[in-house]
Amino acid sequence: MLTQEELELYQRQLIIKGWGRESQEKIKNTHVFIAGAGGLASPAALYCAVAGFGKITICDFDSISLSNLNRQILHNHDRIGMQKADSAYATLTHVNPYIQVEIKNTKITSRNAHTLLEHAHIILDCLDNFETRHILNKACVQLRKPLIHAGVEGFSGQLTVVVPHHTPCLSCFLPKKSIKKPIPVVGVTPGVMGTLQAMEAIKLTTGLGTVTTGKLLIFDGLTMRFSSITLEKNSSCKVCK
Ligand SMILES: [Zn+2]
Repeated sequence: MLTQEELELYQRQLIIKGWGRESQEKIKNTHVFIAGAGGLASPAALYCAVAGFGKITICDFDSISLSNLNRQILHNHDRIGMQKADSAYATLTHVNPYIQVEIKNTKITSRNAHTLLEHAHIILDCLDNFETRHILNKACVQLRKPLIHAGVEGFSGQLTVVVPHHTPCLSCFLPKKSIKKPIPVVGVTPGVMGTLQAMEAIKLTTGLGTVTTGKLLIFDGLTMRFSSITLEKNSSCKVCK
């Protein structure tokens, strides 16, 4: 049940056509797991928090460095050296004290992925490398949990929602390995794509609108164009076969 304070806090979204108390209660009862606490996770977690998701888990093993701060707006200059998950906790509990924030100061591995994800309803891929993405993807497919993927480079971003056994999975189309060098990026790009991940989490939960499944949404910040390509299930994919 929503309290009087929550009804006031979420008033402007409650009056959206088709939203109402029922959608807000669904959001309150939904646990979102956010893999990563960097550039994509920053806006994704902030907007999931202010939208009222009842529980948000942030998982990151890294600590904050100066070069993170052109894009990772969960953090700030006073927190350099602090664990990113701890910083995310401090930020999110202040932007919305009516939700529960849980942190995991750990790297996602094939050993711990199931345990980390087992209680979550929706998983956000806010990672920066393909190796961990594939571990996350495999666990989501095995646990049959929806995965909202986004990735960025420079002025460009991409997004898709994997619904296990209904849509292609990340392993059907993503490269297996990352190139070992810093990915160039301006903060606005993960700002856009992480925000869209939160939008998809809201739509998945409430049933409003159409979720980006079976296609890859591509954002080009230089021309300000969105386009999408159809994703096909890879018949030789070993993950979602
Ligand atoms: Zn697949």
